[in-house]
Amino acid sequence: MRTIAVINQKGGVGKTTTTVNLAAALALAGKRVCVIDMDPQAHASTHLGVEPDGTIPSLYDVLVSNKPLVEVRRAVGDNLSLIPSDINLAAAEVELAGIVGREVILREAMAVDERPAPMLPLSEGPGAGGSSPAFDYVLMDCGPSLGVLTLNALAAADEVFIPLQPHFLALHGLSKLLETTALVARRINPKLTVTGVVVCLYDAATKLAQEVVTDLSAFLARSRGANVPWANAKVFETKIRRNIKLAECPSFGKSVFGYAPKSSGAADYTALANEVLGVTAPVVVGPLKISVPV
Ligand code: ADP
Ligand code: MG
Repeated sequence: MRTIAVINQKGGVGKTTTTVNLAAALALAGKRVCVIDMDPQAHASTHLGVEPDGTIPSLYDVLVSNKPLVEVRRAVGDNLSLIPSDINLAAAEVELAGIVGREVILREAMAVDERPAPMLPLSEGPGAGGSSPAFDYVLMDCGPSLGVLTLNALAAADEVFIPLQPHFLALHGLSKLLETTALVARRINPKLTVTGVVVCLYDAATKLAQEVVTDLSAFLARSRGANVPWANAKVFETKIRRNIKLAECPSFGKSVFGYAPKSSGAADYTALANEVLGVTAPVVVGPLKISVPV
């Protein structure tokens, strides 16, 4: 299982769009995927067709009332599940203030969730197979802050993906973000690794976008071999182009694959999923189509 926190303390850079559509692309590729919506604004939940109205079980119940993940998780598509958020999560910061170990509540809930379900007679036990998740990918969509919710994601994750919009000052704030991953790695989650930066809202025609990508690659290259979680971080080859379909699909409660499967947005997130899966685009060799691992 790969557990990925999608973070950037800046809003509007493509975190939710990337979490939802990458998750959908991985699910389409046959992987079992769970999205955890860590943002009180619940955009990922809405995007996946779940409207948190304060009545459905949510991540709030997991973090504040220790409800098991299995009682909160819901199927939102083939191979795709969701732990919804809720506006109540906005209060979690305050409500968890006095709790020892508040940064690792989600990690503990996930550890319990992964334990094999006890062998119960078929007629007994909670809902049919509901307690054996066995996901290949868990993607956590974080809100625009580095507070207790994002810390819970970083404590539970093995990997960090950082969506970034290539505009002036795009790299501003990246050091603070990376320092936070270093702090979490040192204090609560030694296996935390920054896998890479996903460039979103990309406009290849602008010089600025290309300059930001060059600066970013150079910046990351300077940390190669250092004892930091981003020592091997890369800029993903796949750039997510600006595409109106990506902006439209959330209001229909669908991923771009359900809304506009032939759009450039769908193509870009498929390419990103292939990169994440470790496959490159199909290479045509004679009449055969094969995929080569990178
Ligand atoms: P974040 O979660 O980081 O705040 P979002 O993923 O919600 O950012 O994206 C911010 C806004 O930009 C949303 O309205 C979203 O629909 C839109 N958006 C994101 N990526 C793209 C893209 N590649 N092309 C067009 N619009 C996009
Ligand atoms: Mg968001």
